[in-house]
Amino acid sequence: MPVTSETSVLFGNLLTNSLPADCETRNFRRQVSGACYSFVKTTPFPQATLIAWSQALAAQLGLTPERLGRDKFTSIVSGNSMEQGMQSYALCYGGHQFGHWAGQLGDGRAINLGEVNTAAGQHQILQLKGAGPTPYSRTADGLAVLRSSLREYLCSEAMYHLGVPTTRALSLVLTGTGVVRDMFYDGNPKTEPGAIVCRVAPSFLRFGNYEILNARKEFDLLKQLTDFTITRDFPHLGVPGHDTYIAWFNEVCQRTARMIVHWMRVGFVHGVMNTDNMSILGLTIDYGPYGWIENYDPGWTPNTTDSQGKRYRFGQQPQIALWNLVQLANAIFPLINTVEPLEAAIAAYKSTYESQWLRMMQDKLGLESPHHEDATLINQLLSSFRHTETDMTIFFRALAAVDFSLLLQEVPVILQKAWYEKSPNQTSQQATLDWLLLYQKRLQFETRPQVVRTAAMNSQNPCYVLRNYLAQLAIDSAEQGDYSKLHELQKVLQQPYQEQPGHENLAQLRPDWARQRAGCSMLSCSS
Ligand code: AMP
Ligand code: MG
Repeated sequence: MPVTSETSVLFGNLLTNSLPADCETRNFRRQVSGACYSFVKTTPFPQATLIAWSQALAAQLGLTPERLGRDKFTSIVSGNSMEQGMQSYALCYGGHQFGHWAGQLGDGRAINLGEVNTAAGQHQILQLKGAGPTPYSRTADGLAVLRSSLREYLCSEAMYHLGVPTTRALSLVLTGTGVVRDMFYDGNPKTEPGAIVCRVAPSFLRFGNYEILNARKEFDLLKQLTDFTITRDFPHLGVPGHDTYIAWFNEVCQRTARMIVHWMRVGFVHGVMNTDNMSILGLTIDYGPYGWIENYDPGWTPNTTDSQGKRYRFGQQPQIALWNLVQLANAIFPLINTVEPLEAAIAAYKSTYESQWLRMMQDKLGLESPHHEDATLINQLLSSFRHTETDMTIFFRALAAVDFSLLLQEVPVILQKAWYEKSPNQTSQQATLDWLLLYQKRLQFETRPQVVRTAAMNSQNPCYVLRNYLAQLAIDSAEQGDYSKLHELQKVLQQPYQEQPGHENLAQLRPDWARQRAGCSMLSCSS
């Protein structure tokens, strides 16, 4: 039963009350079988300081620094105080990493504190990333550094405000202790400031939570975990059983398709789509070496660890999500025992992805009534982007502002502000003009007045995204104790579709110096 704590927030423990725990309660690295999680205590950080928090999310949870007092709030979100009703635990999961089964992974540096039952009747789990080692820490330290924590904090909130399904971030604290990292894996370790992000989601279960149980042939536990998932997070599907499992897998496929369409809409590259980083709720989870598309390139990945095969490149995300769904299908197969419904769900993923992607691109272009040649028009545009190294974000905002009663020859001049290639050759310029001509013709089938279409386009095409170099500039300042850039970005990214006077510098092309700088265009997994 949820208990009213002294914070007067209701904390519950549905997961730990429903599923079997690891019997071992000492905190040392090990394989954990016959259990879905291990109870574990957070490491105390008496010097923790709060440097940012999400006011709106805090209010939704009823956990605000104003109401609790800043010290109390900081102490909760840094893991220093356990409130009445909270139970801290780390989940056991496995996963396929870069296409290979990796065995047990688990919450190696994430510690869950149980869920808040919100005034709106939802449950939201608090999870501290970087709060100390757990049985799943393997050879690592259970900690996180400021640079990667700031990136996760800013990006998950930015994604939320962009309308992309995601886990959220309540707060960012400095632990007050140093963490040693060899950022480039080149034998030059450095001490960096440690930090903790308090993440928030209705569930942190991943495909890997189901995969590990299948790999261990713990089929009863697999059923228990699936029944729990359906009952807690998919209650509309009804009582768990054979048909409900199929409906559930279908819904996971559909939610995943929707998430990936959003990633492609805003130009987000996750960077590490291993199955342990795939949320069962179809939320973007585990912000590591992610990046934002600058010069449009479907082959781009920010993750240096993946620079050879580029498995997780921008343009391949839909196929990788599908591959990951197949791994989930394999994992839950013992609950269903027939292949056909699982195959049908995978096929439905493909067709949903394709139709939603087309609709999404039509929306980006302001095309309301579908036309049979739209797919061709869109693909032609995307290939013209490559010639001119087009910044997708700037392009779509600029396109929405174009007055098509102008001479078409003048339009490329307007669009040039989205080009990294400042002197494109004749063929490239011609490709843009050719496309504009088709687009202008296509607009004749549209009935909405231009102002309405422009507003509709601007509601789908963000003005502000967390450009890679902007995150890095905020990190550089924060490492010097200046959080103004972090706070400015957080504020502006709360209204990403709204042009905000005075913040034009956050909606411009990546400067040249950032093209090759580490942290801006390339990131390692070190975090
Ligand atoms: P990721 O690449 O962040 O998805 O992490 C893969 C696995 O490594 C997960 O099981 C993480 O919990 C674990 N992990 C990553 N970094 C650390 C760390 N510093 N300490 C302990 N475990 C970690
Ligand atoms: Mg992960």
